[in-house]
Parts: sequence; structure tokens; C-alpha cells
Amino acid sequence: MKKTTLYPNIYLVLFFVFMVSCNPPRQSFHEIERVKQESMAHIRFLASDELKGKKPGTPEMKIAARYIVEQFRAYGLQSFSNITNYLQGVPIEFITPQLIKNVSCNNIVGFIEGSDAILKNEYVVLIAHYDHLGVIPDSVNANSDSIYNGARDNGMGITALLYTAKELSKKPPRRSVIFLATTGEEEGMQGSTYFLKNSPVPLKTIVFVLNNDGGGYNDTTLIRIGGKNEINFSIALWNKNRSFGIHCLPYPEEWLYLYKEGDAFCFAEKGIPSITVSPGFDKIDDAILKYIHKPTDEAGDDFNYYYLAKFCQAYYEISIFVANSEKVPF
Ligand SMILES: [Zn+2]
Repeated sequence: MKKTTLYPNIYLVLFFVFMVSCNPPRQSFHEIERVKQESMAHIRFLASDELKGKKPGTPEMKIAARYIVEQFRAYGLQSFSNITNYLQGVPIEFITPQLIKNVSCNNIVGFIEGSDAILKNEYVVLIAHYDHLGVIPDSVNANSDSIYNGARDNGMGITALLYTAKELSKKPPRRSVIFLATTGEEEGMQGSTYFLKNSPVPLKTIVFVLNNDGGGYNDTTLIRIGGKNEINFSIALWNKNRSFGIHCLPYPEEWLYLYKEGDAFCFAEKGIPSITVSPGFDKIDDAILKYIHKPTDEAGDDFNYYYLAKFCQAYYEISIFVANSEKVPF
């Protein structure tokens, strides 16, 4: 009896050893669950109806800013001496056919000093815009949802920025990292344009920009990277990100123009290598168009919070790769 049961057990052990050696190490269920719960809390607040779509100049936009500021403070991020309390005042101009309206708003800026005595004088800038479109009543159906919550655009980006700030603050990378939550992106990248004109550090010390923005996802095995020279960069990261079940691919050629409509492009125009990291999509189909710049872009029950957690981890992995690498990707 004993003899006959022994052989199957040995095969079971050998099979297990074989499986472990074939697969890269996976993070624990506990870890991904922790990231999922934390990121869910961020996005559900930032995309809540109470924040009314975070339009620049509104009281709700100030509440969103305050939320991000207090996360920066909790993670121990530093504030530049020429910026008070992480808040960089930005005048936002709304231009409509009827009028030009100016409102005051804020970029939120914090940083972590690098751990390397020389490389800490170089800055990697991580960006996500936290503004969205606000409340736009439907002229046809007055009773329909009019709040443009902006969960995917750009609650996901801000959530990934906060996750990365928290993780990098535990063990600073070699280069210094600036965390920039911009305002006025939906009004023509006004927050990032203002930052560039009023940067707290000389622009020549900014060596790389990782913007985080997108309109949604329809492929949860992917993240997309947009930028002119993104291909070599993506390949270098591919294996790394695969280890937690996500692939990293460049934007499809036909959608690369979207990169030019985001905060990264302002920096690229100044000659600073800049990419946009976006949630995974294979093509812009109904699964994306259903949410992008629509009141349906909410953090509700149909939102994939498990994917959000993986997306946050991928953004962190790319950020630390750039901030630690001997030479920044070009
Ligand atoms: Zn956006």
C-alpha cells in the first residue's frame, strides 16, 4: 500500500518543481489584493459624483487637489521651496465662442530626492492630470446623468501616480523624481505648459517624463506606451512587466496622434524625452468610446479594479526602471 502511493507523490513533487522553475516568481495574492483595495479607494473618491467632474475653478476641484496634497504629505514627499504646500498656482483660461474666462487653479508638485550622490541632480518627472470636464447638462434629456466623473480619464492616471509616489518614497531611486498632478489638461494642457514656464528645477536637469493618461481599456493583458522613440524602451520593459501578468507595447501607429494631445507632448516639444503610459487597448472600439469623455466614465461595479492594481504596478515598474537606469532611455 505504502509503495504504490509513494511513486505518485514523487511525480507530484517533481511536477511542482518543474512548474515553479518554468514560471517567473509571482507576487502573493495578499500583495495584489492590498494594491487593489488602496487603488480602489483612490479612484472611487476621485471619480465620485461628489467631486462633480473636477472642472478647474470649481470648489470640487479644490477638494480633489487637497486629497492629492494630503497623500503626498502622508508619503513624505518634499515640497519645493518656491512652491507652498505642494500647490503651484495656475491661471486657467476657458475660451468659448462667447467669452474668455480666467479661473485660478493648482498643479500639485512634490518630489523625492534621489539616493545617488551624482544622479540625484537629474529629475524624472511623473505626470497625471487630475482635471476633467465637470458637469455638462444634456440639452435633450434633462434628467440624464450630467456628471463627467473621469474615472478612466484620468482617475486611473492619478491613482497610478499616487501608488508610485508611495512605493518610491519607501526606497528612493537613484535619480530624483518629481510627481506632478496637472490641472487644465482638458483645456489644452495649460497646467503642464505653466509648469514648463515656471519649473522649480532648471529644465535641462529634467531627463525623462512619464505621463500617465488614457481613455480606458479593452485589453487587460496590456499597457500601451506612446512616444516617438518608444519601441526600444518598451522591449526593455516587456519582460519585467510580464512577471505580473501584463505586457507593455507601443501605441499602434494610427493612434499615435493621441500622444500629441496630452501633457507629455509639451515636454517633448522642449526636447525632453517624454512618453505617455496608457491603459491597455488593442483598437479604439465601442468598449473605449462608451466611456471616453462621457458621463458613463465612472468607477462603478463594471470597473476592473484588479486591472487597475496591475496598471499601477506597471507604471511603478517603468518609473523605477527609468529612475535607476545608468542611462535614461532616449
Ligand atoms: Zn486625459
